[in-house]
Amino acid sequence: MSNCIFCRIIGGEIPAKKVYEDEEILAFDDMNPQAPVHILVIPKKHIRNMMEVDTGDTGLLGRLFFKAQEIAQSSGCAEKGARFVVNCKSNGGQTVDHLHCHVLGGRFMTWPPG
Ligand code: 5GP
Ligand code: ZN
Repeated sequence: MSNCIFCRIIGGEIPAKKVYEDEEILAFDDMNPQAPVHILVIPKKHIRNMMEVDTGDTGLLGRLFFKAQEIAQSSGCAEKGARFVVNCKSNGGQTVDHLHCHVLGGRFMTWPPG
């Protein structure tokens, strides 16, 4: 997906501060952090959003969320917790159409979301 920002980060065309990478998952700092810890965890496979997850993607997403847990722990969020957010399409506030999990931590998060 040459016009997708996150695919271009995966391909190395756009720089990002990488936190973790393996053959199917990439994690990097959000460029506009909303908390002391704000990391995006993404599949390297271009899945547009939660509505387009396929039965064949369930293992990948399980591993992605487990990796998000590990990243939150290694970022100092194990004791007090974190927020794991997946926005979806326009009503969900999604701005980049490549599935991603926000890992937000290091401060108290309010609820409900805006
Ligand atoms: P969404 O609103 O789609 O849930 O989240 C997209 C996130 O991607 C935003 O928090 C935004 O700051 C981040 N973002 C967008 N473009 C880039 C980029 O080029 N580099 C990085 N590191 N983050 C980006
Ligand atoms: Zn993409």
